[in-house]
Amino acid sequence: QPKLVIDNLHVSVEGKEILKGLSLEIKGGEVHAIMGPNGTGKSTLASSLMGHPKYTVNSGSVMLNGEDVLAMKTDERARKGLFLAMQYPSEISGVTNTDFLRSAINARRGEGNEISLIKFVREMEQKMKILEMDESFAQRYVNEGFSGGEKKRNEILQMMMLKPQIAILDEIDSGLDIDALRIVANGVNEMKSPEMGVLVITHYQRLLNYIKPDFVHVMMQGRIVRSGGPELAEKLEAEGYDWIKEELGIVD
Ligand code: ADP
Ligand code: MG
Ligand code: MG
Repeated sequence: QPKLVIDNLHVSVEGKEILKGLSLEIKGGEVHAIMGPNGTGKSTLASSLMGHPKYTVNSGSVMLNGEDVLAMKTDERARKGLFLAMQYPSEISGVTNTDFLRSAINARRGEGNEISLIKFVREMEQKMKILEMDESFAQRYVNEGFSGGEKKRNEILQMMMLKPQIAILDEIDSGLDIDALRIVANGVNEMKSPEMGVLVITHYQRLLNYIKPDFVHVMMQGRIVRSGGPELAEKLEAEGYDWIKEELGIVD
């Protein structure tokens, strides 16, 4: 069963410290949600976990199944089973969704253990059906000309095909209407199993009506300041973040 342990992580961007001692543990089967005001470092956490070169880890550790994630290059992190669905997915010109996914899957499976074409195609069709994606998306270039909602669905398709150990979903709800949100959430819920831990990052509680978290964490000023169950998200929805700021003595 997968396990990601983030311990006292300090990260800076362009010389400014953004994450200031963030700790979090995610196990297979668990859905964690991180909520927090804008600019608090949520996306910085996601990018740092994937090894984005702009983010410098100053101290702390990240371990996946006992292995040092921070010592791995980005592609190795992906191969070991870390997955990030981004707030703003990028386009990959000239590479079809099918080719992209097949090579990503095979990179994870390793040489001599490649997925058969038939099995791959069948699985992709099945997942695309769940996500209500048109068949033509298989042969289109990754995210090129996709609408915001289509890009988000495509991110979830990648997740469903790659079967990561830990999936990080950074504001997948931004820019989605209710129907698209429901479809995307279905995809995530469909995958819930002891084989995968999920970290859902969101500014709004709305997403958590569709993807039910087991644990909710509030992030402020680069660290987790409160943790609880789903009721914490409901309290935030009703009362906003001010009460936490008051309790912490944060003035802004
Ligand atoms: P959130 O996702 O919680 O809204 P971010 O992690 O995106 O917050 O941003 C936290 C802070 O770090 C902000 O002040 C932002 O301007 C800064 N920051 C994040 N990424 C970059 C970057 N690539 N370049 C410069 N500043 C950044
Ligand atoms: Mg933001
Ligand atoms: Mg963000």
